[in-house]
Amino acid sequence: SSAGKFVDVFEKKIASYTGAKYAIATSNATSALHISLILGNVSDENEVITQPLTFVATCNAISYLGAHPTFVDVDLDTMGLSPNAVSNFLEEYGELREDGCYNKKTGRKIVACMPMHTFGFPVHLDELLIVCNRWKITLVEDAAESIGSEYKGKPTGSFGKVAVFSFNGNKIVTSGGGGAITT
Ligand SMILES: *Cc1c(COP(=O)(O)O)cnc(C)c1O
Repeated sequence: SSAGKFVDVFEKKIASYTGAKYAIATSNATSALHISLILGNVSDENEVITQPLTFVATCNAISYLGAHPTFVDVDLDTMGLSPNAVSNFLEEYGELREDGCYNKKTGRKIVACMPMHTFGFPVHLDELLIVCNRWKITLVEDAAESIGSEYKGKPTGSFGKVAVFSFNGNKIVTSGGGGAITT
């Protein structure tokens, strides 16, 4: 419920714990991912780079917008999206235009990149941010499984333009069901 003071308390605590300026509670992380991609300007017929090794909600959120998941492989050491693989993919298929990055093969605009920190292991964020910035692609973190994880001393979820946490019953911290967007 959005009634009462505890949602506000929860949002403040999540923001301070994750080092984000703001946290916004949602009904679950699936809806948080959906909204985060809208905030990342993803729309119909765009592409979002993500990893095939994830929970299906990551890709569902992309398809809710009529956009397409573009699967790129994970690293062996993190089990999360590989910056090298993303870079190689973009060297082969990416084309930088004035208004962003396009996939030469499909003709679609690649608007966002959504890594997932598998089982709480952070992806190589510094390297991934370099690749995303070089290709003008917005980083949205699916941090549903990684509250409490840190990358080089900084909490996961504080690297992307927006990030998403889950508080479902099977997650690290639970509210029964729920999610949050941090920005
Ligand atoms: C659990 C999970 C979600 C979805 O979370 P819900 O709160 O159940 O909607 C999304 N992405 C990943 C990686 C997850 O593990």
